[in-house]
Parts: sequence; C-alpha cells; structure tokens
Amino acid sequence: MKKFFLLSVLGLFAVSCGGNSQQNTNSENTETPSVEASTPADENTVVITLNANDQMQFDQKTLKAKAGKKVKLTLNHTGKLDKSVMGHNFVLLKKGVDIPEFSEQAMKAADNQYIPVDTQDVIAHTDLIGGGESTTVEFDAPEAGTYNFICSFPGHYGMMQGQFIVE
Ligand code: ZN
Repeated sequence: MKKFFLLSVLGLFAVSCGGNSQQNTNSENTETPSVEASTPADENTVVITLNANDQMQFDQKTLKAKAGKKVKLTLNHTGKLDKSVMGHNFVLLKKGVDIPEFSEQAMKAADNQYIPVDTQDVIAHTDLIGGGESTTVEFDAPEAGTYNFICSFPGHYGMMQGQFIVE
C-alpha cells in the first residue's frame, strides 16, 4: 500500500513537471508556424492586382494571363471617394463587344452594379467598389487572344479601359 502511494505521488510529480515543460514549448511554438500558413503559390493560377483611383484611372493598361489557367484578380480602389460618385469595377468583355454600346447598357443597370442584367458580353467582372475598398474575382482565362476590360461606371470607360491579353 505504502509503495503504491509513493509511486502515485512520484507519478503525479512527473506528470505536473512534464505538463509545465510542454506548456512552455507550446507557447514558444505558437509564435513561429503562422509564417508558413499561407497556401503555396498555385502554378495554375495567375494572380493580378489592379488599382484604380479617384482620378478615374487604372494603374495598368495591359494585363496578361495564360490560356487554360485560372485568374485571380484583385481590384483595389486607392482613392477616398464613395462608390456612388467614383465607383470602379473591372469588367472583362468578350471579343467583338462594342465598348460604347455596352457602356450605354451598363449605365442603365445601376441596380446591378452597372452590369447589364443577363448580358452575354461579359467574361468576368468584379463588384463595384468605392474608395478604400477591395474586391476579388476568380475566373478561367478565356482562349488565347486580346480582350478589352473596362470600368462600367457611367462615363468611366473612356479613361478606364485596357487590354487583357491571354497567351
Ligand atoms: Zn470607374
């Protein structure tokens, strides 16, 4: 009986010691691993960052992607103005779509973030955002070729358009 008691006391002692030292190593570990937490770059995804500002400009006129790959495009509005006055989006149009004609349709679609309802002209588009906001859209790159992209907010396409080249 006495022997058993002694053993269990020793056992408890060992457990509590072990517990302590494990807690220490755990707390050290929690600070390091988060660095590698993000998923490794996906070779099948082309990541694009496009910025738009209060001066009604995109920071790039040419974007590139590869056919058959996924595109992850993030649009940042680096300005301060509200989306009701300086809203921006990224709209990738199919080949052959007439930009002024499309934009006229878009203008009437204020309730749908200036994307014509049931349109057949759009390959992909982001949400409409205002100053300080960001939005991301993911889509499959279309077949190789040169496509137009615009901001479909009323009156913006003249200054806010560029070419999306798929190789
Ligand atoms: Zn715009």
